[in-house]
Amino acid sequence: MKLVFATHNQNKLKEVRALMPKHIEVLSLTDIKWHTEIDETSDTIEGNALLKAQTVFQQTKMPCFADDSGLLVNSLNGAPGVYSARYGGEQKNDQDNIRRLLHELHNITQREAHFKTVMALVLNNQSYLFEGIVYGKITTEKTGTNGFGYDPVFLPQGSLKTFAEMSAEEKNAMSHRAIAIKKMTDFLSEM
Ligand code: IMP
Repeated sequence: MKLVFATHNQNKLKEVRALMPKHIEVLSLTDIKWHTEIDETSDTIEGNALLKAQTVFQQTKMPCFADDSGLLVNSLNGAPGVYSARYGGEQKNDQDNIRRLLHELHNITQREAHFKTVMALVLNNQSYLFEGIVYGKITTEKTGTNGFGYDPVFLPQGSLKTFAEMSAEEKNAMSHRAIAIKKMTDFLSEM
């Protein structure tokens, strides 16, 4: 069975391929020669994941899935949430995003947050959603240089290291994305 993953991101592709059951071949947008960007116009993480998966399904008629993620901070009422990639401005720069987040949380002691990923799968004209969440706290300063996004300021519950201080293997063993992928691959394995 061939499944399209609606992404151009090679890191995500690698992570997903490593976790997929053997009978499923994952093709990226690059593999199917889809070169346009799909605008993420929904105001929810679920909505954007569905939008990407359904757009690709409608045009290719191939079974496919897409993901969308965000960081939700309790004392900021769930911000940056669906706007995580552009929290610090439309240039979508990780350092600008972190700068704004630390600024908004300046002098705030309640720093609980969670990362959330939603994977949307469109198969036989039906849509399925799989969610992965990892809880933690936002640190007061950046620590570590691995990973991407908010990794240097996210300290997962029960860990002494931020995501940016972990190896890719350590992070992938506990990340929101890995949890959502696992739920989806378990579902596909049972088919
Ligand atoms: P995406 O939907 O996976 O592209 O994630 C949207 C945004 O959420 C990214 O641009 C990051 O700012 C943030 N984000 C999502 N997942 C992670 C993660 O694992 N670590 C750090 N930041 C993340």
